[in-house]
Amino acid sequence: MHDPLVLLAAAIIGLIFGSFFSMLSWRLPRRLLAEYHGEPVPPLWDLRTRSACPHCETTLPWYRLIPLLSWLASRGRCHACGQPISKRYPLIELATALLTVAAVWQFGLSAKGAFAVGFGWLVVLLVTVDLEHKLLLDAFTYPLLWLGLLANSLHLWVTAEAAIWGAALGYGLLWGTYWLFRLVTGREGMGYGDFKMMAAVGAWFGWQAIPGLLLLSALTGILAQLLLRLAGRGETHFAFGPYIGLAGLAWLYFGPQLERLF
Ligand SMILES: [Zn+2]
Repeated sequence: MHDPLVLLAAAIIGLIFGSFFSMLSWRLPRRLLAEYHGEPVPPLWDLRTRSACPHCETTLPWYRLIPLLSWLASRGRCHACGQPISKRYPLIELATALLTVAAVWQFGLSAKGAFAVGFGWLVVLLVTVDLEHKLLLDAFTYPLLWLGLLANSLHLWVTAEAAIWGAALGYGLLWGTYWLFRLVTGREGMGYGDFKMMAAVGAWFGWQAIPGLLLLSALTGILAQLLLRLAGRGETHFAFGPYIGLAGLAWLYFGPQLERLF
């Protein structure tokens, strides 16, 4: 679907949801972590609270909530206290809009297009929270898994059988690697969120895609960490979710081509 008006509508819907995701991905993990540790939850972390500046707590008027444009218009600073507003907000809005447009461009206004939009949106949420907290929330991994199984109950990407086996294989292989690594080295290399996210991606693209997805996410992860280390910003314990997300997006758009490669 390459109709410019439809793509513009997709971009606007993407920006609006992206704005919501930038709020959700900031508040939800903080709230869950506070509840988990039995600490009080500040009102600003409640999902119902109106958006406010985290520095001076001034409530934002509606026109300050217009995605991307309000950030650009205020040059990335709070209108009340002048403190910089994190680039995460425009970046999340932009990423969500781009993935929404890409899904409509590639798959059109169809069931496949709608599911692909859902895939992109959940990946944005998962990756954002994982980058900031090294945490893949069940609130996002499970919907990604259910969506993949539902999409393939309609045989949109692979057969339902391939999807079920893909989910089990994705989870099982990482679970096995985790325990092997733990028994040999006594350290934890991954978390259960990684297994769930790989299971979800397996549900989307089937068991046939699992070796390629594992290889692609591991290679991009290692490469990115090498580059970060060269830049003096490497981490010994890095979030794996972003690389599973990238591999999943690669499969969503270039699956048939990639399957010939791997
Ligand atoms: Zn402020």
